Amino acid sequence: MTASAAMFDLTGKVAIVTGGNGGIGLGLARGLAGAGARVIVAARNARKSATAVAELQALGGGGALAIEANVTDEMSVVALFEAVAERCGRLDILVNNAGTNIRKPPPELSLAEWREVLDTNLTSAFLCSHAAYPLLKKSGGGKLINIGSMLSIFGAGFAPAYAASKGGIVQFTKACASAWAADNIQVNAILPGWIDTELTVKARAQIPGLHDSVLKRTPARRWGAIDDFGGIAVFLAAPASDFVTGAAIPVDGGYSVQA
Ligand code: NDP
Repeated sequence: MTASAAMFDLTGKVAIVTGGNGGIGLGLARGLAGAGARVIVAARNARKSATAVAELQALGGGGALAIEANVTDEMSVVALFEAVAERCGRLDILVNNAGTNIRKPPPELSLAEWREVLDTNLTSAFLCSHAAYPLLKKSGGGKLINIGSMLSIFGAGFAPAYAASKGGIVQFTKACASAWAADNIQVNAILPGWIDTELTVKARAQIPGLHDSVLKRTPARRWGAIDDFGGIAVFLAAPASDFVTGAAIPVDGGYSVQA
């Protein structure tokens, strides 16, 4: 293997991708499996996870597997990491990707809805990172990748809880990067632009004109696809990014730099 190929090689690495059974999570998981990682798909829908795992196994990467988990539930998260430690013997990479949205302006959003979004998008990242830390330390270091959003940067009147959760993800990323650099754990965030997934199918149904306004605002003149996330996943999970930590990297076709 050449030195530059080794920089992006994940052979022998074990990676958990929360929400890895579809959408952006599956795009991230495909990248990691293609680079040789053993990918653990952690999500609630067992049928969707089984389909994703079959696909990931075909990409290589030493035996992808699915473990059912609800990332809003502390006991379920603890059980997930115990199962990974027992079945895989190590952990090297955690991708906090599971997410949801409830689109309502602030006065219409209930406390229960606020909590559902914050628990799924932000508290889950805390719970999983907390559970991952001792395993990553035992592996001699590792990589944590958190999924933010354009709403980590911008506001949107229809998404107060989502924007709060995704702003929080970036600050949580910086805090963990700073805390764990000495343990050789790099922590970074990816900020997707508008990507064609189940989440945004709902958004397009709920927000009139969204499809065209995204095309107009995005310099690349297209919606993102889930496979736009394979490359950044590999970079942030591999030795190539060993001196990159605390960053929040847009993958957005230029959306965030367009005036
Ligand atoms: P999808 O709705 O397609 O996928 C969401 C994933 O999260 C599913 O795999 C789902 O699996 C999982 N999930 C949701 N809740 C839980 C839970 N409680 N426990 C475990 N898994 C859960 O969404 P996207 O792929 O679009 O979104 C993925 C991430 O990217 C999210 O964090 C989202 O906020 C972010 N993002 C998306 C953008 C887009 O344009 N699509 C833009 C910016 C950010 P299951 O239902 O089986 O549990």
